[in-house]
Amino acid sequence: MDLQSIKVFEQFANNVDFAFWVSSPDVTEYYYMSPGYEKIWGRTIASLIENPHSFLEAVHPDDVERVTQAAVGKEPWNMDEEYRIIRPDGTVRWIRDRTYPVYDDQGNIYRMTGTAEDITERKQEQKDLHQSLEQFKQFAENIDIVFWVCDVDVKEFQYISPTYEKIWGQSCASLYENPRSFLDTVHPEDIPHKMAAIKNNPTSMDEEYRIIQPNGTMRWIRDRTFPVQDENGKVYRMVGIAEDITYRKQAEEETYKALQREQELSNAKSEFIATISHEIRTPLSVIQSSADLLHHNIDRLTTEKKQKHFQKVESSVQRITSIVQDLLIIAEDEASSLQFQPTEVDVVQLCQETIGTIVNYNKHRIEFKVSGDGAKTAMLDAELTNHILTNLLENGLKYSQPDKKVDFELSLLPNQVKFCIQDQGIGIPTENLSHIFDSFYRASNVETKPGTGLGLSIVKLCVDTHGGGISVNSTVGEGTIVTVTLPRSNRV
Ligand code: ADP
Repeated sequence: MDLQSIKVFEQFANNVDFAFWVSSPDVTEYYYMSPGYEKIWGRTIASLIENPHSFLEAVHPDDVERVTQAAVGKEPWNMDEEYRIIRPDGTVRWIRDRTYPVYDDQGNIYRMTGTAEDITERKQEQKDLHQSLEQFKQFAENIDIVFWVCDVDVKEFQYISPTYEKIWGQSCASLYENPRSFLDTVHPEDIPHKMAAIKNNPTSMDEEYRIIQPNGTMRWIRDRTFPVQDENGKVYRMVGIAEDITYRKQAEEETYKALQREQELSNAKSEFIATISHEIRTPLSVIQSSADLLHHNIDRLTTEKKQKHFQKVESSVQRITSIVQDLLIIAEDEASSLQFQPTEVDVVQLCQETIGTIVNYNKHRIEFKVSGDGAKTAMLDAELTNHILTNLLENGLKYSQPDKKVDFELSLLPNQVKFCIQDQGIGIPTENLSHIFDSFYRASNVETKPGTGLGLSIVKLCVDTHGGGISVNSTVGEGTIVTVTLPRSNRV
């Protein structure tokens, strides 16, 4: 070796961060030890030369047995160990120690070389990385979100967190095996949309779609992807997060439904006010004009004419009273304060009285008949029964020509009383029949006949309150039969 080379070697040995040496194979003699030893061990080379095994004195008690065996045991020249040393100042360093045999011409080991490197920083980094990975794993495994990493064509998943199994109800293994298998679970209606999103911009998606788990349960998913670029800015893979947003969707849907209900209620309220105002205004203007006529022409009008106007006023007041009564019943029902007070009532008498109170229409068209040999009395709420009969009789009169009669039959049966009201009027179209008990509902053929659409809903309410039954049979152009049965014995 020339002088120049020796100088270069010395510079190298003095400046590198690791120690290297040449020793006898049994490590009883060092031929060379680089200055790195002093730097790493914090002990002098002289001390090592003096006692070649003294480097072991610094080895951490937990590692000393393993290191001693490797370093001075059977094959010291074949060592590759990582261990800790404690330096004289008390600091702990991690060392990677490797040795290699050196052979003579006969192939015998006559020396060995070694390197010892301070790997404390690397160890710390490894530890930090391990800790971060461990934390990420815990996070990924315990959060209700699926994380995944895959190529841009969704042909291979590099990672998929275990929550996938929980949300999709399919194994991660199945997805690694067939990366597009998650699409098999997408709700058929959402597939076209999802496929278009994957095709258009797979690495920057933000999609909401439904999946159907193998057990048939439907879940809502929010799926987002983000591109991962290499150092040249080229997107080479993507990461994604998918979360189960079913509960949020349900809450949204409920809020939407509640808003819709509120809107419907508000519409119904407006409609209600408009209908009632209209229905009250008509009899009010009749009262107004009859009163005006009577007021200004009281001396000129014949008794007959006066009588006619008084009747008009009376029937208009009756009409308004009946609307107000209907409204009161509805309000009481809504406030759950509808009174039900059955008393022993003479049903025949009640029917006759009810007919007597009808003023809006020509009550003489009503043909009342009693059949059956049951008792005349029954435990009924007289007021509610009166509402039932008035509404049904007035409908029969209202929805038929003024020259047609309305048959009203009371059947006194052993356990119940039956009211049958039959007219020969316009009838109810079949398609409207199922709604006629709904509040404000009017059939399509009422034309200009007055009405609020409340009567039958109140009738139904009063019948239900009695625990009775009601049925309607109707043929357009022929007439309508309404049958109500009320049990005889109702207790308070
Ligand atoms: P309204 O105040 O409109 O008469 P109801 O609740 O009493 O309201 O009846 C609801 C609807 O049922 C009526 O608007 C009408 O279309 C229909 N209807 C009820 N009774 C009869 C009947 N006897 N003949 C024909 N249609 C009827």
